[in-house]
Amino acid sequence: MMTKIKFKKTGAKLSEKCGVFGVYCSNENVAEFIFYGLQALQHRGQESAGIAVSDGEDILVFKDLGLVSQVFSEQNLAPLVGSIGIGHTRYSTTGRNIWKNSQPIYRMFKDEVFAIAHNGNLTNTEELRKEQMKRGVRFETTTDTEVIASLIESSERDNMEDAIKEAIGKIKGSYSLLILSKDKLFAIRDPHGFRPLVLGDREGEHIIASETCALDIIDAQFIREVDPGEIIIIDKNGLRSQMMLPVDRVSMCVFELIYFSRPDSYLYNKNIFEIRHKMGQELARECPVEADMVISVPDSGTPAAIGYSAGSKIPYGEGLIKNRYIGRTFILPTQEIREIGVKLKLNPLRDVIKGKRLVVVDDSIVRGNTSKKVVKMLYLAGAKEIHMRISSPPLLHPCYYGIDMATKKDFLANHRTLEDIRKYLNVDSLKYLSIDSLVRAIGEPKDKFCFACFNGDYPVPIPENLQLDKYFMENPDYENEVKVSSNAK
Ligand code: AMP
Repeated sequence: MMTKIKFKKTGAKLSEKCGVFGVYCSNENVAEFIFYGLQALQHRGQESAGIAVSDGEDILVFKDLGLVSQVFSEQNLAPLVGSIGIGHTRYSTTGRNIWKNSQPIYRMFKDEVFAIAHNGNLTNTEELRKEQMKRGVRFETTTDTEVIASLIESSERDNMEDAIKEAIGKIKGSYSLLILSKDKLFAIRDPHGFRPLVLGDREGEHIIASETCALDIIDAQFIREVDPGEIIIIDKNGLRSQMMLPVDRVSMCVFELIYFSRPDSYLYNKNIFEIRHKMGQELARECPVEADMVISVPDSGTPAAIGYSAGSKIPYGEGLIKNRYIGRTFILPTQEIREIGVKLKLNPLRDVIKGKRLVVVDDSIVRGNTSKKVVKMLYLAGAKEIHMRISSPPLLHPCYYGIDMATKKDFLANHRTLEDIRKYLNVDSLKYLSIDSLVRAIGEPKDKFCFACFNGDYPVPIPENLQLDKYFMENPDYENEVKVSSNAK
């Protein structure tokens, strides 16, 4: 087995918001497809990237910290010869960015290696880890993915398929999983369907990806979404599917539609750009204002800003130029670096915005750093009025299912009135989209989604230890907790 080893110590707890991509192919060039698939999923994770391939006998893994294009080169892709493979891009904001936490991770089941790539976040990791440790299992990391791998590894079932099914029966929370054995590719989506997972076909070859945009890049056709609770098994006999787990409440993460997924991807056969455009239209209807121009906080606010313009008939303009070579500022680990990050990323078009009454549309406010900096920039550049419009409701509750947005205390909207936030951001007006309008924009029944980050209604119960973690998690930023300032422009 080939691995790149760069071990460092960690005790960090992890939450994963990631991209996964798997291929069952008839030729040996699977690594190349995965490389391109991961490039398309780069927005889902920028901390590390990895590929595992099977040549039918052994599994080779190569992974490292960095963007897909930084991790992989012609040289290290060349030895990854095989016709089945999986890939992963990793994102986390709480866990440290170290090699050991990158995926795919690999383990042994009896005398056979398997590799695993996970997008999501289990809610019963601690409980399972303790049970496993009592059985003598040792862990190298605190990741939930390792817990899943260990459950498979220590299963007493006769074959890997049964071991995987047994492990899946024990885990709770969110998981879109790809597992590679020497001759099979398994794709599993949790019964709530928190994270997306889609099935594609490329001239008879099977592809599984977090999002449809990753199918497009290799000219694969979208076939369907992997159903919540479904396990798909692909091997030399073709594709089999089983509904493994009872589905009592599908609860797809609504934040995928608001922010995370790429606008050119499709969910529920609907284009994400179109959905965000409708969110903008709903926002214009629900939160109108008189202004001269609508601008977005690029890129994530752009579809909703165009929609707001269409709904309000206020012209859309480019007011902020984004440096496309800087990563998502949110992903930068400390508050200090995040603050510089916003300036690195956005610069105002002074001549366009000078003297104008602006509607500024963004998809969400988490800590408020982005909005605060953007507003300051726009006023310094001569904006006459700023009306902030957010195409989602106020974020108030931490996510335990894979989006590591903030601890409860970090949310700007936590314990603040709308007026407090307006003053803090220093804008002339501030409005958020309501949950009902959000649902109208999506055009699907409300009960298909998880809105926990907005309303605290968690579809999978959250154990107390996890809740405490998210509340009191050590965070140096607490000292700099935002002070509500007066409205001084
Ligand atoms: P903040 O400066 O903390 O308010 O960040 C808000 C911006 O970060 C939003 O405008 C989103 O575009 C983006 N964002 C929201 N949630 C997340 C997340 N969980 N991870 C990364 N970026 C996010």
